Amino acid sequence: MSHQESRLQTWCQTWLLTQDAISSYKEILQVYWETATGLVNACCDGLEPWQIVGLTCSSTLLAVWLHSFLFQPESLTSRIKKQFFKLLRRMPFVGAIIQKKIDEALNDVTSSLSFLKDEKDYIKALPEQGMSQPEVLQKMKEYSSKGDVRWEDGKVSGTVYSGEEKLTRLLVQVYEEFAWSNPLHPDIFPGLRKMEAEVVRIACTLFHGGPSSCGAMTSGGTESILMACKAYRDLAYERGIKHPEMLVPVSAHAAFDKAAHYFGMKMIHIPLTKTMEVDVQAMRRAISKNTAMLVCSAPQFPHGIMDPIEEVAELAVKYKIPFHVDACLGGFLIVFMEKAGFPLKHPFDFRVKGVTSISADTHKYGYAPKGSSVVLYSDKKYRSYQFFVAPDWQGGIYASPSVAGSRPGGIIAACWATLMHVGESGYVEATKRIIKTARFLESELRKIDSIFIFGKPEVSVLSIGSDTFDIYRLSNLLAAKGWNLNVLQFPPSIPLPLFRKKKISEWCLNGPELLAPGWDAPVGGLFSIPALRCWDLDTVEIWEVP
Ligand SMILES: *Cc1c(COP(=O)(O)O)cnc(C)c1O
Repeated sequence: MSHQESRLQTWCQTWLLTQDAISSYKEILQVYWETATGLVNACCDGLEPWQIVGLTCSSTLLAVWLHSFLFQPESLTSRIKKQFFKLLRRMPFVGAIIQKKIDEALNDVTSSLSFLKDEKDYIKALPEQGMSQPEVLQKMKEYSSKGDVRWEDGKVSGTVYSGEEKLTRLLVQVYEEFAWSNPLHPDIFPGLRKMEAEVVRIACTLFHGGPSSCGAMTSGGTESILMACKAYRDLAYERGIKHPEMLVPVSAHAAFDKAAHYFGMKMIHIPLTKTMEVDVQAMRRAISKNTAMLVCSAPQFPHGIMDPIEEVAELAVKYKIPFHVDACLGGFLIVFMEKAGFPLKHPFDFRVKGVTSISADTHKYGYAPKGSSVVLYSDKKYRSYQFFVAPDWQGGIYASPSVAGSRPGGIIAACWATLMHVGESGYVEATKRIIKTARFLESELRKIDSIFIFGKPEVSVLSIGSDTFDIYRLSNLLAAKGWNLNVLQFPPSIPLPLFRKKKISEWCLNGPELLAPGWDAPVGGLFSIPALRCWDLDTVEIWEVP
């Protein structure tokens, strides 16, 4: 027998064997099929054809309804909870009690939020005749001096990041020049367009974006985050995802919740580890075919902790999901940390493969006036999903890069001027002082037994909590001393962010005073530590703009 013949024979044998195997499966299937059809027929026994048609239609409709009821952007538990409380509030007696409690709480909040002494004194209509300029200026002074907290003293957190007088004077001049400009009309204000492009490019360079990196200026961190989420939602739609989801650490800024709410995305909160970093394993488990984007913060607002960006980036690469790094708060610090002599432990920018976008606020540690931020992308293909175009509008083809239509050119110019004026050496110097102060404060606070610091903060914010007393009492005490610090929840803590302000030294100068009578020992100790009293004033002295 030739070689070929023997091969043919084996092939035939295999074929017959397979046929045998298949035919036995066929028989089994046939038995199942007959039983199943028999069962269905038995069920329909005695039913008229119209009944069968009717039942089929109604059960199909029920299945469709059930599916749309169960799978909604808002989770079933959260909807059930809401419905439960809604019903509870409608109940005769319980409802009244709850309403009373709500009213009390509302009154409480309203009274604590009435910052103005002369509430009645509002102007409610246009002045019949325009006021003279001196009159307007006089009025303006009244408005700017309202409010008890003097932010210039640096006793506030997260509100004013800069405020040097010389810089203010420069910015006023720049604003004057561009007060009437609007980047919506680049043909009329080409110079403004150049400024905007330069701010974006400078930021790309700082975050080590490649040649195809790009971005846009926005009105603030929230808008930067909104734009990135919008871009990734539209990208997800294009990839055929009907219900895009974002995986966001619970410590990330609420702007992501806002984006989910505005853009109809599903928000999935990812828990943190004990060190307040996002739990990468939990993030991995939450990835599904609907995942439109991953998020990390660098650092996050509540505790100043850098999320494990490299590890999340690996997930992003593996599952081909866009990955946004929110550096709104510390963006303009972390890029200077290395030059300032405080290199961060891990890379966080476009050098990490998988990071597709970054948001960074020029109006925080960029020291530009409020109303400016940048959102950056590693590649133009992502940014194109951010843009909006209405080609059919009667007013002409309308295109805009972000939420706003007309935008204040003066703010863009002022942001540009700040970057130009402070320059790299200025930012490095500011970073050096801020981080030096933060490290010093951290080492001193760690000496106190009754409080602890959350995680290992690497940048300018550290957050304190306590297992031995209610930390909110400490914040009330500080508030009584004229401090205006945020308080955080889940878990309760007070963040201490550091800025370029002279009076940060009040932390020590005010210290002994804070040992209020009747205040029991644990916290009192906080401000009596000698090291805090002999604060290294040099580290916190005001940083003059040269
Ligand atoms: C401040 C902040 C934002 C939002 O910025 P806004 O300018 O207030 O809109 C987002 N993320 C982080 C981490 C922030 O600190």
